[in-house]
Amino acid sequence: MQNRERRTNMKVSIDESSCIGCGLCTGTAPEVFELSGSVASVIAQPTAANEAAAREALEACPVDAIHED
Ligand code: SF4
Repeated sequence: MQNRERRTNMKVSIDESSCIGCGLCTGTAPEVFELSGSVASVIAQPTAANEAAAREALEACPVDAIHED
């Protein structure tokens, strides 16, 4: 397999009304999450290369604002 950027089945979204802007997800998976102001958003769905980091962020979010769709 040479395509490291292939998509995974993982799709994430952020409940912006719950997010407290702690920056944990953006620090853990900066290719997937970005802070704009005090709220994080998904800038790109996870790839095979960063799915593990995205899942780690999902599980670590202190307010469970990251959801797998
Ligand atoms: S880890 Fe959760 S609370 Fe923190 S910035 Fe990301 S979505 Fe928001």
